[in-house]
Amino acid sequence: RGEITLGNFAEKLGVNASELIKKLFLKGQMLTINSVIDMTLAEELADDYDAMVEQEEVEEMAFGEKFNLESEDKESDLIERAPIITIMGHVDHGKTSLLDAIREANVADGEAGGITQKIGAYQIVKDGKKISFVDTPGHEAFTEMRARGAQVTDIAILVVAADDGVMPQTVEAIAHAKSADVPIIIAVNKIDKEGADPSRVKNELMEHGLVPVEWGGDVEFIEISAKFGQNLEGILDTILITAEMLELKGNPKKRAKGVVMESRLDPKVGPIADVLVQEGTLKIGDIIVAGESYGKVRALLNDKGEKTEAASLSQPAEVIGFNTVPEAGDVMYVVQNEQHARRIVEEVEKDRKLNDQNKKKHISLEVLSQHM
Ligand code: GDP
Ligand code: MG
Repeated sequence: RGEITLGNFAEKLGVNASELIKKLFLKGQMLTINSVIDMTLAEELADDYDAMVEQEEVEEMAFGEKFNLESEDKESDLIERAPIITIMGHVDHGKTSLLDAIREANVADGEAGGITQKIGAYQIVKDGKKISFVDTPGHEAFTEMRARGAQVTDIAILVVAADDGVMPQTVEAIAHAKSADVPIIIAVNKIDKEGADPSRVKNELMEHGLVPVEWGGDVEFIEISAKFGQNLEGILDTILITAEMLELKGNPKKRAKGVVMESRLDPKVGPIADVLVQEGTLKIGDIIVAGESYGKVRALLNDKGEKTEAASLSQPAEVIGFNTVPEAGDVMYVVQNEQHARRIVEEVEKDRKLNDQNKKKHISLEVLSQHM
């Protein structure tokens, strides 16, 4: 912990390690791919690539383990669960447009246009199969949440505008998806535009190791127009096929675990957290803990804003009942009773204070984009 090798750093940065080694050599520093680099050097290197190095806080790494909140599943309790999808890509290539287009195309008639509230995640049904989409900038979904012990992505959709091609944040997104070891589906967007050149996108992505299926590789390239809703089916079909191969499973029977995607303070109902439930089933009356917040689930709303009794595997839900507003990225656990919840929160508070003091010592490095 708190250390990174030049090789790993190069990978996160999306550049060749040899390039960095050469750079450093010319400055009189002899390093190898296995050399451990420090924060100062990392910042210096990242600067040349328009990237930013952040100190990763490690406080909650042990949260679930420390309090024995993680448990093994019996094989017989496992059932199929919906894939969780994150959409990544360079700014303005159409991430938000794609997320919105899929959602709009899949709401029942009566609701169309009625959904205006901002939620952290939503779920659709395609050919009888559920798919969950997470509305979080890719880098957060991959780095911050993972650092807190939650992976909120099974499949990454990489949006690349066909009139613009591969750009710095495209490369960064590839590095994130690769280090999280999740499959990537390429959405070649804006094919309606003049100057759109899908084959250029393929060629450019080849250079980053993403070889199209039709050229003998294993990466699906789907040509779409998010703006005009063109070929969203192609994206959804590919997600389902990819998900099937992953054989995603979960245990709905145990106490729930989830991730806070968004949170806010509502003047009428109090703290509200948009939670993506990953394991177990979250129910009204459950005692919950997330970071420095705890409480009892008073109400649950689904992603359409309707009251619901429970939320299970890969399902998003608005949770009402926390005593304070938890932070986005906090992992949420259902625990046995309120005393236990309080004890955990006290520990987390202590850890966070300690961590603030020790920040300098406890760093590990994550390369994040400046604007995503
Ligand atoms: P994001 O930054 O990746 O979330 O990109 P947005 O979804 O905000 O899109 C950026 C701009 O590109 C907006 O003006 C969109 O209307 C436009 N845009 C997105 N998808 C398409 C598309 O398929 N075709 C065209 N012509 N424009 C698009
Ligand atoms: Mg956007």
